Amino acid sequence: MNFLLPYFYRTDLPKFFFSKYWWRKSTNEKVIYLTFDDGPVPIYTDWVLGQLRQYEAKATFFCVGENIQNYPAIFIKIMEEGHSVGNHTHNHLDGWRTPNTVYRENIRLCQQEMDKFELDRKPILFRPPYGKIKNSQFSTIEKEYQVVMWDVVTGDFDTRISPEVCWENARKLTRNGSIVVFHDSEKASPSLYYTLPRFLEYFAKQGFRFEKL
Ligand SMILES: [Zn+2]
Repeated sequence: MNFLLPYFYRTDLPKFFFSKYWWRKSTNEKVIYLTFDDGPVPIYTDWVLGQLRQYEAKATFFCVGENIQNYPAIFIKIMEEGHSVGNHTHNHLDGWRTPNTVYRENIRLCQQEMDKFELDRKPILFRPPYGKIKNSQFSTIEKEYQVVMWDVVTGDFDTRISPEVCWENARKLTRNGSIVVFHDSEKASPSLYYTLPRFLEYFAKQGFRFEKL
């Protein structure tokens, strides 16, 4: 089954080639970095925040600029509850299919929304949608942004994968220092709702902490 699902692997190989990106934090400590992409949105982001609160878990939310524009109160809530936020472009663009100037401008538009809330973090965290960014695009943002990829993709966004398989995948692949991707979105919600509570309970029992980037 795995050969049909090319993202079901831990990303040791790309990490070697793209060492300026964060893939995982090298550590012996029991710490996991949960990340949630594509919010902020009503219902799903709120639900995630509630789950994290139960475990005093901190996480990182890669937000889409137009969603921040539409739901600023949820964006504020993420920050008020002590989580990190990062830029995920304004319209969720695929870098491989987007001209560099358009891509750069789209990152700026998202940043404009984020900056309304006077975030002073430098460098700013950035996750390219679909993990797709060209080297020539990276070089234009490299000074201002830290690109954050991942170590574990749960596949929650893929409706071909059952919630049970998503949970199994997340449990098996996560290790010390893993950066784990979930999505606070309607599409991902069946797998997200199944997996996240189990994930938090299981790894908390194993003595893991959940920290923001
Ligand atoms: Zn995304």
